[in-house]
Amino acid sequence: MSSKNNRKFLIILISPSGGGKTAIFTKILADNNGIKYSISYTTRKARVNEIDGVHYNFISEKNFLEMKESGDFLESAIVHGYWYGTSKSYINSVLKNNHIIMDIDVQGAKQIMKSDVDHITVFILPPSRDVWLKRLNGRGTDSEEVIKVRLESAEKEIKEIRDFQYLVINDDLETAVKDIETIIKAEEKKIERYINIEKYYGG
Ligand code: 5GP
Repeated sequence: MSSKNNRKFLIILISPSGGGKTAIFTKILADNNGIKYSISYTTRKARVNEIDGVHYNFISEKNFLEMKESGDFLESAIVHGYWYGTSKSYINSVLKNNHIIMDIDVQGAKQIMKSDVDHITVFILPPSRDVWLKRLNGRGTDSEEVIKVRLESAEKEIKEIRDFQYLVINDDLETAVKDIETIIKAEEKKIERYINIEKYYGG
């Protein structure tokens, strides 16, 4: 049996702003060839350093709403005043051979949890509220108003934490990444995710 006999799934990482998830994504993707990043669509403008088609597909609201109307999104939501969405066809094609790791908000995660796409959910939190506030303020790219909006929506998200499966505390990056990799490994080993075991062993 190889990993080819193993059905791939979505790994949904949910983390309020300042949870440190960007570093986690970067490391998981660098260390695991079999895991691909879900490139979302959004109507927000690209930040400096962000590349269209790599970090997001940046599109107009008109195009976004047309895609939504056509049923192209597995999930979509307004976050901090802009639309964000995950393309159904992109997810389905990547899932044929790879796990997909995704960075979406609580509303989007809940839509996927109701869908029939195989997924796991991992919530990421900083080690304490103090560290969290420091990380939020220390990014240096956002105004005070933006930080305030993010803090408020993060507080709302935490209230819903019990709807998700796993919690990883991001104190030390290496440890947090190892924790997530361990979760993925265990999930891969669920019998329901093996294809044709009986046939393979001639049972
Ligand atoms: P940012 O604009 O800072 O990259 O992301 C803002 C928020 O949008 C984050 O909470 C992120 O998880 C969420 N987000 C990013 N892509 C998607 C998506 O495709 N769907 C949903 N529902 N949320 C997303």
